[in-house]
Amino acid sequence: MHTAHPQWPGIAAHLTAALAGWVLGTAIQLQQPALWDWLVYASIVLPALVLLAWVAHKNIASLWRAAAVFTAVAALAFAASGLRATFFLHSALSPSLEGRDVDVTGVVAALPQRNESGLRFRLRVEDAQRDGIAVDLPPLVDVGWYGGLFPNGSDVLALQRQPADLKAGERWRMTLRLKAPHGSRNPQGFDYELWLWEQGVQATGYVRATARDPVPQRLGQTWQHPVALARQNVRERIFAAVEQRQFAGLIAALVVGDQNAIERADWDVFRATGVAHLVAISGLHITMFAWGAALLTGWLWRRSARLCQAVPAPVAALACGVVLALAYALFSGWGVPAQRTCLMLAAVALLRLSGVRWPWPQVWLLACAVVVAADPWALLQAGFWLSFVAVGVLFATNSGAADEGNTGVRARFVAAMREQWVITVALAPLTLLLFGQVSVVGLLANALAIPWVTLVVTPLAMLGVLVPLAWDMAAQGIGWMLLCLQWLAALPWATFSVATAPWWVAVAGVVGGVALVAPLPWSLRGLGVPLLLPVLLWQPVLPAQGEFELLGADVGQGNAVLVRTARHALLYDAGPRYSLESDAGHRVLVPLLQTLQTRLDRVVLSHRDTDHVGGAAAVLAMQPQADLLSSIAPDHSLQSMRPAQRCEEGQRWDWDGVQFEVLHPRAQDYDALDRGDPKPNALSCVLRISTARASALLVGDIEQAQEARLVADDTLLKATVLLVPHHGSQTSSSAEFLNAVQPAMALVQSGYRNRFGHPAAPVMQRYRERNIAVHESPRCGAFTWRSDQADAAECTRSMGLRYWHHRMP
Ligand SMILES: [Zn+2]
Repeated sequence: MHTAHPQWPGIAAHLTAALAGWVLGTAIQLQQPALWDWLVYASIVLPALVLLAWVAHKNIASLWRAAAVFTAVAALAFAASGLRATFFLHSALSPSLEGRDVDVTGVVAALPQRNESGLRFRLRVEDAQRDGIAVDLPPLVDVGWYGGLFPNGSDVLALQRQPADLKAGERWRMTLRLKAPHGSRNPQGFDYELWLWEQGVQATGYVRATARDPVPQRLGQTWQHPVALARQNVRERIFAAVEQRQFAGLIAALVVGDQNAIERADWDVFRATGVAHLVAISGLHITMFAWGAALLTGWLWRRSARLCQAVPAPVAALACGVVLALAYALFSGWGVPAQRTCLMLAAVALLRLSGVRWPWPQVWLLACAVVVAADPWALLQAGFWLSFVAVGVLFATNSGAADEGNTGVRARFVAAMREQWVITVALAPLTLLLFGQVSVVGLLANALAIPWVTLVVTPLAMLGVLVPLAWDMAAQGIGWMLLCLQWLAALPWATFSVATAPWWVAVAGVVGGVALVAPLPWSLRGLGVPLLLPVLLWQPVLPAQGEFELLGADVGQGNAVLVRTARHALLYDAGPRYSLESDAGHRVLVPLLQTLQTRLDRVVLSHRDTDHVGGAAAVLAMQPQADLLSSIAPDHSLQSMRPAQRCEEGQRWDWDGVQFEVLHPRAQDYDALDRGDPKPNALSCVLRISTARASALLVGDIEQAQEARLVADDTLLKATVLLVPHHGSQTSSSAEFLNAVQPAMALVQSGYRNRFGHPAAPVMQRYRERNIAVHESPRCGAFTWRSDQADAAECTRSMGLRYWHHRMP
């Protein structure tokens, strides 16, 4: 048995102070909306070091000493991550190169991903030129290469060359068009810009591949990125060996970490049953893999008395677990979540193997501080916290690989299952907080799927690299598991979701969850329950009776506005489709409605264009109670999901004291379309929402003719807020129309650097001349406006602005 360090209490206090200081100093730096000059960060370092040196030599009370250590280390951590960010930002893409053709030579730095529209890959830039003059590009860029027709100029479509069969490690010369990383910003939504920042990617773009562009040239294979190349080869072998594409995709996900080939329906099943972490090579998956490897090694090691004499089984199990997890993480793509989990596992294992027995809170703090030192931005990632808790429960406490003594196989099996349960239970409240949703059947699904995937399917899938027959067995195993999961996912009470609560409720909930599973007396553990209750019972704030709220979601180039009254909700348009597999519904609106715990009573789809109905299928599938009001044709594919009622002038309803009225189209406008008028824009449903004091006008893509018709008919158009017609296109926002609406405020929903050039400058000039405050979604992110504070609006982008967020020039 190990014994505690003789001077432990004194050391522990300082160590705890230092580790906690490091984490806190980093966390504070992550709150900075903008970076300071590097000299400011650098000037923090010296006084902090002086303070540390002074503490080391001075004989002062230990409480003061701990406080001084805490402060000095926090300042150092703040300065360190500030300096790192400053230097990283130096290599950002120059705005003058955005949207220009640049000739780039570079090496394919990761496994290229193929989808229906082309190829996506990461390029390490070696050399870049514009018109023959060398220019500086960021070292790492994410690029797409699309085949088929591509808009070249405003209306001209050009045929592009099909993407070549790129291999990791190949050097290519190609013409690229790049832009700064820009993602949509929605309340509690995924932070794409942070995600790219953390991976060191500072520009995204596409290969220019029309007939007029130079042909992309393969310059040869390099020896860079050999692991990625090996993964690519294994992926190809899997797809050649396994007949069913669905299973081949899942095996590829498990072996080489390529989740692209997993079908969307399977993802939905995994999410609904809470086992998505198993196929996503998340930190949690790596942790469970290490746990499985440690269990197996320990069991095998104990078969040999000689081995046990040389190295005790728990030590061997722990070391093997970490080393195998490292190898697996490396081969499955060495993604950022895998890197930080390995770091965390290594820190915990080294500490344990060195013979020091620290109390578990310090071990957790050490694991956290080590990861944060390597990757400060991990603190903001949900995946980090999930794997952190899992590593903590399995490896930092006294369970898992360190299990000593000679218990029988059955007792060991029971112990392993119990640990696995503890993990699932401990992660449930955290998942609820991070994702607003926890899978009720997830407890059962994880109890079956974690051991099955960790101990059976993944080893078989790995073995397939040597013996391809094992892939068939793995496919069989996945097939059985999918059947079970599909059955579980179909249960009516499969998921439980709550509204995202404010941070203080969340913190109380996490403390409650930890208390429940911590090795404490049951009387103390019981305190966890009241701490958890606010999270479970949290109700989002809704408008008062007679008032309403608009939330213009940030969906890129397209419309989507959520309207909420005291007890009702309506979604006006459902945003664009991004590609065959992804749309604004899946990516933005479904998560947003979940975060807000909103049940829609009605979906209005203004007209059939894909930038308005692209996300509708996903939203309608998740909101079975909502009815549909739209101008889409009777044979439109959405009609089979939910029969749509035609929107028509004169329809009106009252929700909680708020008036809704449809102003356009008229019945005869539909007849015009039946006669073959090709423009669906003309049929956009126009909706006016009003209280006694404030009002909003949502107009879809109506153009000047419809605007003139509305003005000529003397329709009551006046509104406090206007959704700018047709995303600010030149076709719309005529002077007469603006004079009739007289908005104080307007919202343009358009994409950053969209190919239509929306909003058009002359149109914006018309708004400026009338002193209308215009908010553009690329600058504002999600836009929130409330009828009881009619002169104010809230922009998600500026509310939560951090230094890694893109600022439009
Ligand atoms: Zn549109």
